[in-house]
Order: sequence, then C-alpha cells, then structure tokens
Amino acid sequence: MLFLLFFNSELKAANTSATQSADNETGSSVPAHIALIMDDIGYRQSDRLALSLPLQIAFSILPDAPLAQELAQRANQQGREIMLHLPMAAYTQANLGPIALTADMSAEQIGEVTHRALNSVPMAIGVNNHMGSWLTEKNWAMHEVMKTIKTRGLFFVDSRTTSESVAESTARELGLPVARRHVFIDHRLSPESMQQQFSRLIALAHQQSLAIGIVHPHPQTLAFLKQQFETLGSQQIQLIPISHAIKPSLPTEPAQTQKTMQP
Ligand SMILES: [Zn+2]
Repeated sequence: MLFLLFFNSELKAANTSATQSADNETGSSVPAHIALIMDDIGYRQSDRLALSLPLQIAFSILPDAPLAQELAQRANQQGREIMLHLPMAAYTQANLGPIALTADMSAEQIGEVTHRALNSVPMAIGVNNHMGSWLTEKNWAMHEVMKTIKTRGLFFVDSRTTSESVAESTARELGLPVARRHVFIDHRLSPESMQQQFSRLIALAHQQSLAIGIVHPHPQTLAFLKQQFETLGSQQIQLIPISHAIKPSLPTEPAQTQKTMQP
C-alpha cells in the first residue's frame, strides 16, 4: 500500500498512544484494528467539535457544503485524513445537496458530477457514498463513478446503505483500493444503542482483525466516542486511520501461462 505511506508520518503520533496502551497491557499480542469515518461533515456549526476527536478518525465531507472548505483545511492541518462523501440517489426522498448523483442522470452526467464533487473536496484521499440505496445497486452507474474515482488515484469505501450494493464489487473489478463499512454506530442516538453497535464493531474486529465503522457529528456521538476511546487499549483494540484499512484490489484476470502451455 505504497500510496498510503505519505500519511503515515503525520498519523504516527496519533497512533502511538493507542498502540502503546494495547501493547502495555497485552504484552506482545497484536491488537485488532478498527477504523472510523465521520460522515456528513460540512453543514452544521457543531461539526467543528469533531476536530477534537482522535486524528485517526477520517472526515468525510459533503461537496460544496458551507463549512466544507474550512473543515477540510483545519482537519488536513491536523494531519487527519479527508474523504469525499459523495451524495447518491436513494429510494427514500432526500435532499442530497447541490452536487449529487441523481436518478435521472445519464452515465456521462454521472461521470461529470463525480468529477465536480471530487474537485470541491480536493484534499480527499478516498470516497464513500452518502445515501445511495438506489444508485449503488446500478452496475452502469457504479462503473462510471469508480472509473472517475480511479482517474484521481483514490480509494473507495462502500457505505453499504443497501445490501444489494454493487459499489464495492465494481470498484474491485476496476482495480480501485476498496473497503466496506461494517457497522453504523449512531443510527440511533441513545447511549444504549450506540454501545450495542460499538460492541458489535469491537467483536467484528476481534473476529476478522479489522472492522470499519461509520459515525456522524452529532453531539451525542462525540460524547459517546470520547468515552469509548479510553477503553480501547484494555480491549486490545487499536484505532487506525481509514487509509490503513483499505485493501488493494487484486488483478481480476489470473495469469494464463499454464493454460497456454496445454494443447
Ligand atoms: Zn451520509
């Protein structure tokens, strides 16, 4: 994952404390990893409070949002990773904002608008979808989106707003570095519900060594997360930047050398 090395130095300091606390308590054992993406950044004044969270948490910023530029710059100065939160058509009626991939667009328009969205968050190193339960089920649309993202050399994280999403598989086919969201932490804002979801994230991380969660800049979420981070070390969990959680896609066509040798 050479393209990630650039970010390592800046995030090294942020990683150190979590790593050390896990190592101190578990001897030589390797901690499981979680990565978190803070979605929907850019519309609320209170989004600024999210800057106080650990630097490993990526900000995914909505294109052309009123606070998009300010927050992207401040987060970037902190050494935090920035993503584009790309609005996509959903089955439910939703205001997707000024730059969005809507259901009435042609393939060409999908490509154009994806470019515009990427231009509006130029510091983004990756993309995930905002909404998109309709669009991420469409092969032709995901092909256009991923083709465009690929020209910028960015990674994609499928937010999985529908179980029928083909976003991740399309990204993989086109060779983009890719990952998927495992758990939404704060769909419900009660402490009990967030605790349940966060525990699911931790359990998944222990099972599969890495789990990716999505959170939102609600004041309740920020307060909840700050509490959780104090206990990660004792649970042998290390919080890592999202770029460290992305897998490069393997070539889809295996080498045919052996077959061509056969009659
Ligand atoms: Zn969103």
